Amino acid sequence: FDVYAAPIIGSNDKLRGIVLVFHDITDLKKLEQARKDFVANVSHELKTPVTSLKGFTETLLAGAMESPEHREKFLTIIAKESDRLEVLISDLLELSKIEGSHFQLDWQRVNLYTLAEEVKLMLQDKADKKKIALTVKAAGNPEVDGDPGRIKQIMINLVNNALSYTPEAGEVTIRLKEQAETVVLEVEDTGIGISKKELPRLFERFYRVDRARSRNSGGTGLGLAIVKHLAEAHKAKLDVTSEVNKGTTFKLAFYKERQEDKKEK
Ligand code: ADP
Repeated sequence: FDVYAAPIIGSNDKLRGIVLVFHDITDLKKLEQARKDFVANVSHELKTPVTSLKGFTETLLAGAMESPEHREKFLTIIAKESDRLEVLISDLLELSKIEGSHFQLDWQRVNLYTLAEEVKLMLQDKADKKKIALTVKAAGNPEVDGDPGRIKQIMINLVNNALSYTPEAGEVTIRLKEQAETVVLEVEDTGIGISKKELPRLFERFYRVDRARSRNSGGTGLGLAIVKHLAEAHKAKLDVTSEVNKGTTFKLAFYKERQEDKKEK
């Protein structure tokens, strides 16, 4: 609590009372802590690839260049780490843009089936490499009001994760179902799953169930935080159900008609 006190002075200059104002700053404190945690996380996430870039460059300069085998190996690592850094920075910029107060969606009539087919085409190569069957299934009219670029981004993040966290020869399905007021998008996989205790933290920035696995799959830990923000901007309900070693389903219900913004209290 912040406490303010002010005296009330009467006409005879005598103290007549004191006004006390108690201001609950729990939320402010939490926000401040979240901001500090975020800065610490970002610094750590940026430092890791830079340290490795520096290390391998120095090793090359110190003589490893002479061996064609080492040269090839280290340069490949340097290229991969630079890629990671680039993805991390663009995800961070993206997140800060979406969280910014000036962020606005480009509302249009969107056909979710068309978007799903585009996303499938984009990620088909990754699916093929792991022999994963990637399919799109649709029932009813898949049209909603929304921002096509942003909904596509949601789909890419979810399908990309589904492919990353599903072992070889699994299945990933993008499903669209028309309901009374919404069109539900489901991204279902037959992957490693997520335990009940991890589910509540899944959408936090930089939260990963398994850090090493996420790094190996090229993950930044920001994908689901971006999905959550974009879902909120669309007022779309976001759910996840999962069973360890069976698979995971992310579900998003997009309103067919754009919902009015609720007035602030
Ligand atoms: P990342 O870049 O690490 O994939 P995300 O924010 O996209 O970050 O996801 C956060 C974490 O949630 C991942 O590191 C992973 O542990 C878990 N996760 C996300 N999607 C799935 C999925 N389809 N199956 C299993 N685990 C998942």
